[in-house]
Amino acid sequence: MGNVPFHFSYHPSYNLRLGDHVFPSVKFERIREELEKRGLLSEANLLKPVQATREQVMLVHSPDWVAALMDGTIRYDQVMRLEIPYSRPMVEGFLYHTGGSIEAARAALRDGAAFNIGGGFHHAFGGHGEGFCAIHDVAVAVRVLQEEKAIKTAMVIDTDVHQGNGTAGIFAGDHSVFTLSIHQRDNYPYEKQTSDLDIELDDGIGDLEYLSALQAGLEEAFSRMQPALVAYVAGSDPYEQDKLGGLQLTMGGMMERDLLVMRAARSRGIPIFVTLAGGYAVKLEDTVALHTNTALALAATMTA
Ligand SMILES: [Zn+2]
Repeated sequence: MGNVPFHFSYHPSYNLRLGDHVFPSVKFERIREELEKRGLLSEANLLKPVQATREQVMLVHSPDWVAALMDGTIRYDQVMRLEIPYSRPMVEGFLYHTGGSIEAARAALRDGAAFNIGGGFHHAFGGHGEGFCAIHDVAVAVRVLQEEKAIKTAMVIDTDVHQGNGTAGIFAGDHSVFTLSIHQRDNYPYEKQTSDLDIELDDGIGDLEYLSALQAGLEEAFSRMQPALVAYVAGSDPYEQDKLGGLQLTMGGMMERDLLVMRAARSRGIPIFVTLAGGYAVKLEDTVALHTNTALALAATMTA
């Protein structure tokens, strides 16, 4: 399998080709290169996903929204809410990210862990997209595995600086999926949804306070559910140098965060798959380093 005992999923079409946009979707390729350089990723442990099918996407999204994206019937107001320009490569990119999360979720059940070098589009709702998220890849992956009867239950642990509002909306009232979001209170989305567990943080919170709140949250979440699978949405925007985040986590604190989440799942013998989500650091190298560190953390957790 290569130097680490888990697989990565990645496809060149993860680049959403958004042009000059605050969301740097060129980062996915840069992270793949960095993982290769570090000896974590090779042909031997690379999964090459196909696009998620219309049927798979329909397990989460409404016929109207699927048609808007896949048949091009999208309205101007829907594009405005999505906050990224509409194009075929954009839609296909999301379908590849979603295929990558499905493959990573399956691989996690086989190997104990897996890593999608993309995905984590947690602001997509069943009936619309917003905040740069058109298709909720994580929710689709969970639903596909439930449909295949590979799992009954799942937990989504979301540490992106922004609330996983789409995740909360999609799984509201569904006791088979537990949703945990730890995020900055006074940040997008300004109208929050209700997760099974929301941890709302004040502006400017640093490593120590963040990590103790996260640890307490993880203990509560796992006391309320022992899921068959954990989906970790590892947004890199709680970082102190992030343009869209207002927390003050250091590079080291961010890696501690990843380790806390991964150990919480692994120590309980629960398979975990990782998706990247947001990252808008002033320097693209920092965003690439943060996501790469998340993979290093998983490698450390798997070999410890
Ligand atoms: Zn975010």
